[in-house]
Amino acid sequence: MVLTNIGTVKDILSRHGFSFSKGLGQNFIINPDICPKIAEMGNAAEGFGVLEIGTGIGVLTAELAKRANKVAAVEIDTRLLPILEETLADFSNVKIFNEDVMKCDLHRIIREEFAGLRASVCANLPYYITSPVIMLLLESRLPVESITVMVQKEAAQRLCAKVGSRDAGAITVAVNYYGTARQLFGVSRGSFMPSPNVDSAVIRIDPAAEQRLPEAEEKYFFKVVKSGFSQRRKTAANAVSSQMGLPKDVVYEALKVAGLPETARLEQLELEELMEFSCRLKAFSGQVS
Ligand code: SAM
Repeated sequence: MVLTNIGTVKDILSRHGFSFSKGLGQNFIINPDICPKIAEMGNAAEGFGVLEIGTGIGVLTAELAKRANKVAAVEIDTRLLPILEETLADFSNVKIFNEDVMKCDLHRIIREEFAGLRASVCANLPYYITSPVIMLLLESRLPVESITVMVQKEAAQRLCAKVGSRDAGAITVAVNYYGTARQLFGVSRGSFMPSPNVDSAVIRIDPAAEQRLPEAEEKYFFKVVKSGFSQRRKTAANAVSSQMGLPKDVVYEALKVAGLPETARLEQLELEELMEFSCRLKAFSGQVS
């Protein structure tokens, strides 16, 4: 069954009385070039188990199942289950979990479904939860070698921006802290049914094996980053002291010891500088509290 053939897709959907849910970000891929590329660039290969988030009618799922040993796919919309039974009937290596990705135990799924396999994530993410899903995967340190996901073009630019550049946001810092991200290729809006109002891009994040900062420092680091980026036009001293309730002198002292000017803005700093500043600030703020 060719799941990128518009006639086939319309036929399946109408036989099952399915209507698209905008709220669930349902834009299904109908460009035949996209899914094989995501699968091949996203570690869907011999020896791998692939976790997919959001199956739709299974167009990407099928390409993953052709290449990987096992596919575990999380899909929230119960109405898609009978459709998937039909579209994925040829594959015995796919297991669907009818759950909300934000609430299910992804570590357990990987442990139980991918025993003895290497693991990766591939998905055409529902746009309304792109950042929360990516943060969930990274923060929970899901044991995967790569996260290859389609996101809106603007989100891709932000996620893959250089830390310290104008395009960077708090999530850019987080992605670079947890791993490395790069854009793989762009996807035009006409590649989907229904067609969204924006273009998309596929990105790949490779999580780092090592934890950069100890637990307590890491938590503090993200508090500092959040406070700096919530008021990004302000100097670090102004933003951090007002957001974190710290005397400005303490922030100045931390900046100085980290080798940074008093006028520094967090959005302009490199990752290493941000980490150094945060660790110094944590040490100094401990002395005043
Ligand atoms: N992979 C399919 C494709 O490329 O054609 C569908 C991608 S569509 C952009 C996103 C899919 O994620 C939809 O099938 C939607 O129902 C599902 N979804 C939305 N929110 C979800 C959630 N919280 N947990 C799991 N799946 C979700």
